[in-house]
Amino acid sequence: MNKIKLLHMYPNMLDLYGDSGNVEIIKYRCKKRDIELEVSSHIIGDDTNDFSQYDIVYLGGGADLEQQILADDLLKCKGAVRKAYENGTFFLMICGGYQLLGQYYKDSNGEKIPGLALFDYYTVASTDKGKRCIGNIVIETELDGEKYKVIGFENHGGQTQNVTSPFGKVLAGNGNCFSSDTEGYMEKNVVATYLHGPLLSKNPKLCDHIINYVMTRKTGEKYSCKPINDKLEEECRQQLFERLLK
Ligand code: GLN
Repeated sequence: MNKIKLLHMYPNMLDLYGDSGNVEIIKYRCKKRDIELEVSSHIIGDDTNDFSQYDIVYLGGGADLEQQILADDLLKCKGAVRKAYENGTFFLMICGGYQLLGQYYKDSNGEKIPGLALFDYYTVASTDKGKRCIGNIVIETELDGEKYKVIGFENHGGQTQNVTSPFGKVLAGNGNCFSSDTEGYMEKNVVATYLHGPLLSKNPKLCDHIINYVMTRKTGEKYSCKPINDKLEEECRQQLFERLLK
């Protein structure tokens, strides 16, 4: 049986709106393809020094306070995280996690939390705490050359700028900033997004895209997940599109 290794960073702190559900979805969809997902975690104080052994590194979203608390610990992982990213480990990051791998996050109190500076983008929160990007959101991305609509829920004060390769085009909702055209950040081994949901339950093709990437990298042969019954998920998606894309 094939095995994929996932490192869940700060599962006890970065878990807004059921973000940990993304790990469950990856596990479920892997199992349907006879792949075992082995999940490890990194929490504050852990001495994780080899991030490259993982196929996927996952960070969920969190409030400003949690982001502040874990920032020092995260910075200690900087070199090892960069090595894994350069090695081709897949990085999936939601909201607070997305912000923390950029240059910095300046929170709503004006405090600057340094990021891992893996990417060029940076995030500044509105100092008016009542002004946040909140609500359902639909974006259009491209997965392996095919257009795919991604649905989620956003709630962030942070406005992310200097995004060189966005995850998608906003069809409804805000995105990287208030009324933005673009959402998130994407590379071949990176999806960073403001979309909670959890993201992968509403967007099963995105989960399979990640599994395909990981398995292709592992085996050296092009891997394509065999289709599974997503009838319920697709019906749910159609209802949401009807409601949100008017
Ligand atoms: N605290 C960050 C912000 O408000 C991230 C929030 C989140 O992860 N939903 O922008």
